[in-house]
Amino acid sequence: MKFQGSAYLSIPGNGKPRFQAPCLHYESNYNVRKAYKKLLDQYGLDHISTVHGRKSNNARKESIAIIGGGWYGCHLARALSIRGYPVQIFEANDDLFQGASALNTFRLHRGFHYPRSVTTRLQCKEGFEKFVEDYPALSKMQSSAIYAISKDLPTSNKGKSVKEGIRFNKYKEIMDESGLNYKDIEATDLIKYQNIEGMVDTNERTIYVDLPREYFRSVLTGLGVDISYNSRVICLQNKDDGKVDVSYYTFDKKSIASVKNRTESFDYVINCTYNTYKPIKDLSATYESCIQLIYSSKVKNERPFSFSIFDGEFPSIDPFEFYFRPHGSSSKQFYIMSHVKLTPIKKYSTYSEARQHQSSLSKEEIVGLKDDFEKAFQDYFPDFYRYFSYEGYALSIKSKPNIQKKSEADFRGVITRQEGNIIHVFSGKIDTIFQAKCDVFNILKRNQ
Ligand SMILES: Cc1cc2nc3c(=O)[nH]c(=O)nc-3n(C[C@H](O)[C@H](O)[C@H](O)COP(=O)(O)OP(=O)(O)OC[C@H]3O[C@@H](n4cnc5c(N)ncnc54)[C@H](O)[C@@H]3O)c2cc1C
Repeated sequence: MKFQGSAYLSIPGNGKPRFQAPCLHYESNYNVRKAYKKLLDQYGLDHISTVHGRKSNNARKESIAIIGGGWYGCHLARALSIRGYPVQIFEANDDLFQGASALNTFRLHRGFHYPRSVTTRLQCKEGFEKFVEDYPALSKMQSSAIYAISKDLPTSNKGKSVKEGIRFNKYKEIMDESGLNYKDIEATDLIKYQNIEGMVDTNERTIYVDLPREYFRSVLTGLGVDISYNSRVICLQNKDDGKVDVSYYTFDKKSIASVKNRTESFDYVINCTYNTYKPIKDLSATYESCIQLIYSSKVKNERPFSFSIFDGEFPSIDPFEFYFRPHGSSSKQFYIMSHVKLTPIKKYSTYSEARQHQSSLSKEEIVGLKDDFEKAFQDYFPDFYRYFSYEGYALSIKSKPNIQKKSEADFRGVITRQEGNIIHVFSGKIDTIFQAKCDVFNILKRNQ
């Protein structure tokens, strides 16, 4: 096993580690506290007060419980707390960022991924700018972010080529119309690609794997947000007096005897569990049991790049960026590989079925998937094995609303629903946090 620390768990007999929600051990000579304090001085509470004004402590506002400490729960907790709302987060795990926010592809989209939806492209463009303004330190520019159109046409689910695959000139026309800037590029001597009709270099960014958790831990505490870890919410009830009862159990992992059931009342509850706990009624959803593979680069001092093949069921590789280097890996550049068809291994109509699938995945299935991923990538990147060394795999679950209309298949917005004083937020992508914030504030304003 190449890594130490709880981020990697070895799978018996497999020899290669499975990547889990990162909770990293850092290089012993690296002073994380000091480095983080410096960063926070630059981009922490001072930055928030400059961008949003000082925290408002005016008239007493309604109490708010947020369920889930991922991107959505944390972003909303920060925004509400700045406006003076007393906020408490209930998180089932022992730290923030333990769900999809801990293990995704970490791409801060500008719109190039969505040639089929003008709405999503425009939303990405806006979300990208807001994200960089609001969280300037939490993402990193890629040296090149390449979108390449495959010479092959995408295949249908029956394995046949379909005619409507977007060709290179059409792809560029679509991006031009949306005001997305790019540079035409060709294969360089350094990196050789094949089976590509044309490529563009965009300036997309990668969100750090580890830094958002550190950031929110400090900033939310600084803002006075109460965070209850190891607290799983089991029941929500709208009461006649307009309050919502939140029942939860808290536990200490070391002792079963420490499990305690509690109920507290709040004026509002915001459900930020990615539609996994109390899914929105009357909205059918799919839960994809997803696998992505982690690689490190064999090239020394490489400047991280991403490479996405379009338009169809093709692979992508993205930087997997740590701000604080995991133990023993200070010089490594990590990458995460995903594939439109292979990453969602199986799709289910409930979250618990998807979880069950992940815990029953066998070593053979993972090895088989790894071979398929690498073959698919080699079709376009023949020097794959000269560049990349396999490090492990990452499992996560993607929740998606079932969209009936084909024209809206690329919808990645937020769905917000109110049920009494419970607000459900079903997230789309990371940069749609701003849309969620608008929806929540509109609901609170309407109810005043
Ligand atoms: C494979 C994959 C790739 C992706 N790639 C990208 C990408 O490149 N770019 C992008 O923008 N988006 C991407 N996404 C989407 C993005 O990850 C999600 O939209 C986002 O992380 C969801 O954040 P969240 O806060 O809603 O949910 P989560 O991060 O899942 O947080 C939910 C939290 O709720 C907690 N919780 C659940 N039930 C309870 C309960 N009963 N009581 C208390 N706590 C509870 C969980 O422990 C968890 O911490 C990807 C997603 C996946 C799965």
